[in-house]
Amino acid sequence: MTHWAVLSRIAPGFVLSAAGRPVPLVLGLEVTRRCNASCSYCSVCEAPDDDMPLEVLLSLLTEAYAAGSRIVSFSGGEPLLRKDIEEIINHAFCLGFLIRLNTNGTLPISDSIMEKVPLYDVSLDGPAEVQQLTRPGADFERVKATLERLRRHPRVSSTITTVLTRPALEHLDSLLKLAERFDARVNFNRPRPSMGADKVEGWLLDSQEYAVALRRILEHPLRRRVLNSTETLRHLFASNPSPLATCPMGRVSLRVDHDGSFNDCFERPPLLDVRYPDVTFAEGFARIVGRHLTNCPRCTVAECVNTSLLVGLSPETALRTLLSLL
Ligand code: SF4
Ligand code: SF4
Repeated sequence: MTHWAVLSRIAPGFVLSAAGRPVPLVLGLEVTRRCNASCSYCSVCEAPDDDMPLEVLLSLLTEAYAAGSRIVSFSGGEPLLRKDIEEIINHAFCLGFLIRLNTNGTLPISDSIMEKVPLYDVSLDGPAEVQQLTRPGADFERVKATLERLRRHPRVSSTITTVLTRPALEHLDSLLKLAERFDARVNFNRPRPSMGADKVEGWLLDSQEYAVALRRILEHPLRRRVLNSTETLRHLFASNPSPLATCPMGRVSLRVDHDGSFNDCFERPPLLDVRYPDVTFAEGFARIVGRHLTNCPRCTVAECVNTSLLVGLSPETALRTLLSLL
């Protein structure tokens, strides 16, 4: 994508937000909770299989665009498991969305999807020995083949989503070399309690190991391959991080879960019992605006921390985010 194409889509929303008007610029849309990857720290796919039907998803996207959403991030579960994913992506593309696809990298991505989706988040925790341990259902060779296919496409940019556990930290160098090889950036995350981090208690880093991880990442010769800004990494990894001044949810972003629930936090289950299409998209966003939290002592969602700092006009975070979109 050109710098101009990216900026022209997202700048008006940020200007309105900076002027104090909440805009649901970034829509995180969980299209399913089904997943084939069986990651060790995840219990998302144990949820009931009650995905929104296609026609409901399409009308949600139409309403979201009308309400000011310009970036849609399709997540799961594994979005490519939906048989109608091409129709969903095609609809978002025709509306004018900038599309991001979160995938575990094990399923084929069609040429048609590649033409419409410029941004990919591919889950990978390290070389084969790490991946087999932490994401046993996401075969390393398949994920590599996906990253190679994305690398070859001239208009696509990819980010590797890594959940930092003890095995991943041990192979940090190899991970960053993989990112270099596939021309991707790495977005580091902590295992998230809401997703089932307690399942891997023995692999969770203690505060000293997080301090080591922070230093190794910041001093690594391939630091340019890491998407997280220094401030984001400090918030994620420090033992006593500074609270986030504001949460982007309900200010520039919004999450809608697989069953249509509007969610005001990526980390907690929805506080509000409000679902699409029981209420319109605009109504759902308005209710989140009234509820969104500030001063979270620790947010474990790297993307939220990044966006929060972006909204707070952190220059380094802004630059790294922009580079990841290009
Ligand atoms: S972490 Fe993502 S890829 Fe892994 S099982 Fe959970 S939803 Fe699937
Ligand atoms: S933990 Fe706080 S900052 Fe993070 S998504 Fe939830 S409300 Fe927002």
